[in-house]
Amino acid sequence: MPELTTSDTNTPEAVAEPIFQRLVLIGLGLIGSSVARAARETGAAAEIVACDASEAVCTRVAELGIADRVEADPALAVASADCVMLCVPVGALADVAAVIAPHLAPGAILTDVGSTKISVVRDVGPVVPAGVHFVPAHPLAGTEFSGPDAGFATLFQGRYCLVVPPAGTDAAAVARVVALWERLGAMVEEMEPAHHDRVLAVVSHLPHLLAFTICGTADDLADETRQEVLRFAASGFRDFTRIAASDPVMWRDIFLNNREALLEMLARFTEDAQAMARAIRWGDAGYIEDRVLRGRKIRRSLIEIKQA
Ligand code: NAP
Repeated sequence: MPELTTSDTNTPEAVAEPIFQRLVLIGLGLIGSSVARAARETGAAAEIVACDASEAVCTRVAELGIADRVEADPALAVASADCVMLCVPVGALADVAAVIAPHLAPGAILTDVGSTKISVVRDVGPVVPAGVHFVPAHPLAGTEFSGPDAGFATLFQGRYCLVVPPAGTDAAAVARVVALWERLGAMVEEMEPAHHDRVLAVVSHLPHLLAFTICGTADDLADETRQEVLRFAASGFRDFTRIAASDPVMWRDIFLNNREALLEMLARFTEDAQAMARAIRWGDAGYIEDRVLRGRKIRRSLIEIKQA
């Protein structure tokens, strides 16, 4: 085995200091448990504390050993933490924030991973005590699975994380949240909450709405036809079913909390779908071919920027 040289021991991993002394994760599902695993692996936090409303989740997190401490009471969990990250469904954020707010340490950073951002700023912002820095964020990484067993340390590698600080947020606090996500492997960009919600409505929320709807349509078919849809599911329908397998509470909350942007994108989509229907009815082969080509082009550009 070759001897270690000074430069070998000087790799970024070897010298990386923890970014936070105590990182508290509230909600240990897919995202929270992935953050715990990735933070442990990269040494992003000296201590990781896990807190979840579900006793079963707390027990499982302790069994998995992905946190240094599991604390069922959120008020106790956040004490003395320099970073608290909320990883619960967006509809639960207001209640959790109200419970922990009086117990946050002065100078602490409060962040989240919620998939909608106007609602998070609206629901959490007002309860954040003076002297605590609120830096909302959203990692664009996930799977259709949920719960602490679904998480994995590499979930954020090479994926974007959007950081959405309200105007006037302390720049040093934003920089630490950016550093945390970069340490977990993500590429970070800053964005305005309203812009975030419009972009996510197109790239994530509308596709999920279509997947849930198509699966519902197939399920409504007469029994005989439904059986055949399931038996002969070609890749198109199969891909939709994977997306449609996502968590119902999480998606209920996303749809209700990004209502304006999602309804606008759905209206645009409906117009475009009507235009396609018209082209099919009138035999407009050029229009149909053009739309298919556009889809292909988008897929190619995703592959080129390694986001496929
Ligand atoms: P998940 O796997 O369902 O985990 C959520 C966890 O939070 C569950 O253990 C849940 O417990 C717990 N919880 C719910 N309400 C709580 C409360 N009031 N206090 C403490 N814990 C509570 O969900 P996830 O996929 O990790 O999503 C978490 C957040 O990340 C959501 O805001 C979501 O929008 C966002 N996000 C998700 C993805 C994705 O693809 N999944 C990607 C990016 C961001 P119970 O199971 O007992 O309810």
